[in-house]
Amino acid sequence: MAGVAALLAAWTAPAPAQGRWFKGNTHAHSLNSDGDSPVDVLLRWYREHGYQFTFVTEHEFFTDVEPLNAIYGHGNRFIAIAGQEVSQTVADPSHPNGVRQAHVNALGTSRLVMPIGPRNRASGMTVAQTYARNDSAIRAAGGIMQVNHPNFVWSVPLQDMMHLPDSTLFEVWNGHPIVYNDGGVDSLGNVMLSTEARWDSVLSRGRLIFGVADDDSHHFKPEGAENKDLARPGRGWVMVRADTLTGPAIVTALHRGDFYSSTGITLRDVQIGPSEYRLEIASAGDRRYRTEFIGKDGRVLATSTTLRPSYRITGAEDYVRARVYDSSGRMAWTQPVRVRGRP
Ligand SMILES: [Zn+2]
Ligand SMILES: [Zn+2]
Repeated sequence: MAGVAALLAAWTAPAPAQGRWFKGNTHAHSLNSDGDSPVDVLLRWYREHGYQFTFVTEHEFFTDVEPLNAIYGHGNRFIAIAGQEVSQTVADPSHPNGVRQAHVNALGTSRLVMPIGPRNRASGMTVAQTYARNDSAIRAAGGIMQVNHPNFVWSVPLQDMMHLPDSTLFEVWNGHPIVYNDGGVDSLGNVMLSTEARWDSVLSRGRLIFGVADDDSHHFKPEGAENKDLARPGRGWVMVRADTLTGPAIVTALHRGDFYSSTGITLRDVQIGPSEYRLEIASAGDRRYRTEFIGKDGRVLATSTTLRPSYRITGAEDYVRARVYDSSGRMAWTQPVRVRGRP
C-alpha cells in the first residue's frame, strides 16, 4: 500500500516551481511627484544596488518607461516598469481628519488612472468601494492593484479590506517612516491592527491576498542621511520568480503570488505543494533564523530554526503561509496557499 501511495503522490505532485529570482521594488517616487530627485537618479539608485527592476509609482503621473529603459535598462539586467500611485482619498466625517487615505498602486499599467472625485476626494463612498472601482480602472489600463499602507493617517478600517479580490497585492511592509506597519490605537480609541494581523484577518475570511514589502522611497539625496523621518530606498523589496525579466513577466508572477517579500533575508527556494510548504534560507554570516508557519487567524502552526524549514500540510489549516526572522531583526514573508479541507 505504501508503494501505491508513493506512486500516486508522484503522479499528482506538481512540478517544482522554477525560474530565476528577480529583486525589485513596487513603490517609488521621484521629482515627477513628491520625491526629492529626478527619475534618472531613482533608476540609477536601484540599478546600482542589486535590483533587477523597480516600478515607478508617482502620484497621478504616468511615467513612460520606454525612453528611460533605453538609457538605464541594462539589457536583461535591469528594467523600469510603468505604474503610478492612485492617491485616492475618501471624505468621512467620522474620521478625525474628515478624510481617509485610500491610496493604491497601479503596477504594469499603460496609461494614467485618475482617482474618483474632485481633487482625488471621493464622497458618499467607503474605502472598500474605492478599492473596487480603482481595481477595475487599473485592470482596464492593463495593470494590477496593490493596496498601500492601510495604517497611514489611521485610515483604512479592517472591514474595508475584507472584500478585496483574490490575488490583490497589499503592503505588509512599507519602508516609509509614517505608515505604521505595526498598527496602534487611533485618537478615537479604535484599534488599528498591524498590517500582518490585517493580512491574517483577510485570509481567515477566505480571501487570498499577497503581502508585498517595498520602499515607498522619496529621498535619494545624500543630505540628511541621519534623518530617520526620510523615506530612503533599499529597506524592503520583493523577490519575484519569473522566466524572463520583462514587465509583463514580473506583473504576471506577482499576480500569481510567485514571490516573497523581504527586509534583508534571502531565500534560495520556496516550494509550496499540496502536502508540503518548504523554504530554503540563504545563510549570512553567523546569523540565526526562525521560521514560523502560520494558519487561520494568524495561529503559529509550527516553528523551525533550520535553514530548510518545512511544514507538512494536514488539510485542516484553512491557509498556510510563512515568515522568517533573523537574529538582527530582518524578516521575510512568503505567500499564503489556500488549503482545502480533507476528509
Ligand atoms: Zn501613499
Ligand atoms: Zn507612495
